Amino acid sequence: MADMDIGIIGMAVMGSNLALNMADHGFKVAAYNRTASLTKEVMEKTPHKNLQGFYDLAEFLHSLKSPRRVMLMIKAGKPVDSVIDELIPQLDKGDIIIDGGNSFFEDTIRRYKYLQEKGINYFGVGISGGEKGARFGPSIMPGGNKDEYKHVQPILEAISAHVGEEPCCTYIGDNGAGHYVKMVHNGIEYADMQLIAETYLLLRHVGGFDNKKLSQIFHDWNKGELHSYLIGITADIFAENDENGQPGQLVDKILDSAGQKGTGRWTSIQSLKQGVDISMITAACNTRVLSNLLEERKKAASEITAPVYDDKVGEDFIEEVRKSLYAAKIIAYAQGFSLYNSASEKYGWHLDFGKIASIFRAGCIIQAEFLNKITEAYKKNKNLTNLMFDEFFLNNINENQSSLRNIICLAIRKGIPIPAFSSALQYIDAHRSPQIGANLIQAQRDYFGAHTYARIDKDGVFHHKWQEHYN
Ligand code: NAP
Repeated sequence: MADMDIGIIGMAVMGSNLALNMADHGFKVAAYNRTASLTKEVMEKTPHKNLQGFYDLAEFLHSLKSPRRVMLMIKAGKPVDSVIDELIPQLDKGDIIIDGGNSFFEDTIRRYKYLQEKGINYFGVGISGGEKGARFGPSIMPGGNKDEYKHVQPILEAISAHVGEEPCCTYIGDNGAGHYVKMVHNGIEYADMQLIAETYLLLRHVGGFDNKKLSQIFHDWNKGELHSYLIGITADIFAENDENGQPGQLVDKILDSAGQKGTGRWTSIQSLKQGVDISMITAACNTRVLSNLLEERKKAASEITAPVYDDKVGEDFIEEVRKSLYAAKIIAYAQGFSLYNSASEKYGWHLDFGKIASIFRAGCIIQAEFLNKITEAYKKNKNLTNLMFDEFFLNNINENQSSLRNIICLAIRKGIPIPAFSSALQYIDAHRSPQIGANLIQAQRDYFGAHTYARIDKDGVFHHKWQEHYN
C-alpha cells in the first residue's frame, strides 16, 4: 500500500538520524540504502513504528504516497547524479526529489533544470547541525520551486530545530539558493572557529592563562553577548582531561593540524568569482591548509628567529580580547552577508537576510545570541548593503576598534599568527580609509597597459601619455 509519507535514500549517519527524527514527528518513513546491510543495521539498532526498511528500490518507491517525496542523504557529487538517473524512469511527473546533502549549489541549479524538463520537482536543501542536529532538530535551508514548496514544508519544518514556536527552516529561494546559503553558512562557521582559535592563542600566549582559566573565561563569556554554541563547547573543551588518564587536558595532546571537507573553500572561490571580499573566511581556510604543513612549520620554527617580547598583561586583557572577538565577529558576518547580498542579485533569489539569520539561531554550529541582532538590523533596513552600517554594529565597531588594534599589535610583537583578527581590522580600515592606494594602481595600469583611469575633478575616462624614464 502506498502510504509512506517520505522515502529516504542513504542510511548513513545523516540519513538514518533524519529518518528517525521524521518518524518521531509522526511521519511514516521508508528507508533505503544502496548497500542493504546498512538499512538492516539501522532497522535492527533503532526500530521505530513509523520507520520501514526496504531492500528493493522499486518496492521502496511503490510504498510512497503521491506526489512521491524521495530524499537523498548520500555522498555529494557524482553519486547524486547517478541516483537521480536511476530514479527518473521510476518516478511520475509531479514527484519530488529532495537532495539534503552538501551538494555544490551550481550542481543543484543544473539538476533542478534537468529535472524540471522531465516534470520532476527538485529541492536542494541545506541541512546544518551534524548527527545530533539531524536526529533532534537541524537548521534547514530549502531551495527550489516556491509553488511546490508546500509539499515538503510540513515535514521539513516539523523536524527542524525550533526557537520557541518558530521553526529554524524557511523557504530560501529558487533552484540552488538553499545549498548556496548552506555553503556560506559553513564559510562563516570557518571564520567563527578561526577567531575563537586565535582568541585562545592570545589568552594563552599573551595572557599566560592555563586551560582551567580559559574554560572559566569562555564559560563567563557564554553568559553575555557572545553566548553561542561554539563559545559554550570551547569552555567544555578546555576543561576536558586527557582521555588516557595522563595529567593535563586533552586539548594539549591534539595535533595542531586541522581538517576540512571543502565547503569553506567553495565559499572562498565563489567570493572571488562574485567579487566580494570575505577575507576572514579565506584566512580561516588558508590557516587550516597551513596547519597541515607540519614539517615545513617545524623547519621554519627552528630557522626563523622568533621575536622577543615579554611584556606582561593584566586581567583587563581578557576584556580587551572579548571586545575584539565581538567586533571581529561582526566583520565575519558582514562579509558573509555581503556575499549573500551579491548572490541574491546575481541569481535572482530575493534572499531574506533577516530570516536567514533567524534560522541559524538553533540546530546549527553557528547558533548564537548575536544572530538576533542581524535579524533586527535587516528588519530596520532590508536594503542594508553591509551589516557594518547598522547602528548597533557600527556603535560596537566604534567602541571596540581600539581593543582590536591593541590585541593585534600585541600578537604581532609576540609573533602570534592571528590572520582572522587582522583581516577583520584590514576590512574596517580599507572601508574607512579615505585612500587605499587604488589611484596609484590605476596609474600603473594606465602606464603599462593603457587601461585608462577616472579623475576626481571631472567626468570621463582618461589615458595619459606617461614619460617613460624607466630603462
Ligand atoms: P556520507 O558518508 O557522506 O555518504 C554515505 C552514504 O552515501 C551511504 O548511504 C552510501 O551508500 C551513499 N552512497 C555513496 N555513493 C553512492 C552511490 N553511488 N549510490 C548510492 N548511494 C551512495 O553520509 P553522511 O555523513 O550521512 O552524509 C550524507 C550527506 O549529508 C552528505 O552529502 C554530507 O555531506 C551531508 N551532510 C553531512 C553532515 C555530517 O555531519 N555528517 C552534516 C550536514 C550534511 P552505501 O552504504 O551503499 O555506500
